[in-house]
Amino acid sequence: MKITDITSHPLRCKIDQSFAYSQKWLEHRSALLVKVETDEGVSGWGECFCHDAWPALVALIDRVYKPLVIGQDPLAREVIWSLLYNWTRDYGQKGLTTAAISGIDIALWDIAGKVAGLPVSKLLGGNFTSRVEAYATGLYLTQRAIEDPMALQEEAVAYAEEGFKGIKMKVGFGLAADVRNVKLVRQAVGDSIKLMVDANHAYPPSVSIRLAQHLEHLGVFWFEEPVIPEDLDGYCEVRQATTVPIAGGEAEFTRYGFLQLLSRRCVDVVQPDLCICGGISEAKKIAALASAFGTQLVPHVWGTGIAIAAALHFIASLSSEPPSLNSEPSMLELDRTENAIRDGSSVGQLAAVDGYVAVPKGPGLGIDIDETFLEKYKVF
Ligand SMILES: [Mg+2]
Repeated sequence: MKITDITSHPLRCKIDQSFAYSQKWLEHRSALLVKVETDEGVSGWGECFCHDAWPALVALIDRVYKPLVIGQDPLAREVIWSLLYNWTRDYGQKGLTTAAISGIDIALWDIAGKVAGLPVSKLLGGNFTSRVEAYATGLYLTQRAIEDPMALQEEAVAYAEEGFKGIKMKVGFGLAADVRNVKLVRQAVGDSIKLMVDANHAYPPSVSIRLAQHLEHLGVFWFEEPVIPEDLDGYCEVRQATTVPIAGGEAEFTRYGFLQLLSRRCVDVVQPDLCICGGISEAKKIAALASAFGTQLVPHVWGTGIAIAAALHFIASLSSEPPSLNSEPSMLELDRTENAIRDGSSVGQLAAVDGYVAVPKGPGLGIDIDETFLEKYKVF
């Protein structure tokens, strides 16, 4: 069996209501999907986490990695991963390169599952669970929430009423606004909901520590990306100054990066994104590291059905860390913001029911990609 082609599918759609996290306002959503085809008619889909950086990724995939991969055995995932990573290692250990490799790697897992007639979760070693607890990611800054912060309460209550047992909201808009907003959401949803906050590295350690002191009184489940991802000492300062668990890792890459984050005890919850950390192959190695350090792994997910399905299979194959009768399970991050590409690209059962999403049972990722639908949003 040989790989015959790789196609990049850059997609973009407008959104009706712009929203912001601590770094920028978003007016549209983008995605970069990758299709790998073989000489036996089996094909697989992967996804790269890239926001608007897709032109660079398309060039990397089409002009740098594709010539290396054509003719290779698609089942030789580790061989292909090493070939690609080493090809650009000296000038591309993190970021766009690992995003491109991730997209290709996820597609190869999809192919492997289809060839074996097994879901990816089985190839990863089997399912600890047939359904994964999902938490709702939303509560971004909107014009409406600026005019009336009570809008956050309405949104949070809607998630709780849908059955989500966990909700993640954005902070990083100034200490006073953050404390007010988290208080409002906590009041609205009550104490039984897991409430996570995400600063997207908006603050220096000193401000993060002051915010964390307030979050302690609001029963926050974790405080995500308090400081810039490069500042591992800053992570440790914040973590040592608060009892609120610290989460991070969506802007970290490969086993080499995560070894630093874990061994220096920067985080309580580690969050690799399968679509940029190096794919499922690399996430498996990161999970082994997290297990060795007794650290919980909850992947970051902010993509289409491919990213969600890949995360579901991966999470289902994770043991709780550390294992116990009362371990906190890993969870699926389910982005609830407006994204027509995410909602329409895959035909499959990826919706949350009572706060859980079933792990697809079909071969590979277990979802069908609607290529006709993709045409509507294709950039070229
Ligand atoms: Mg985040």
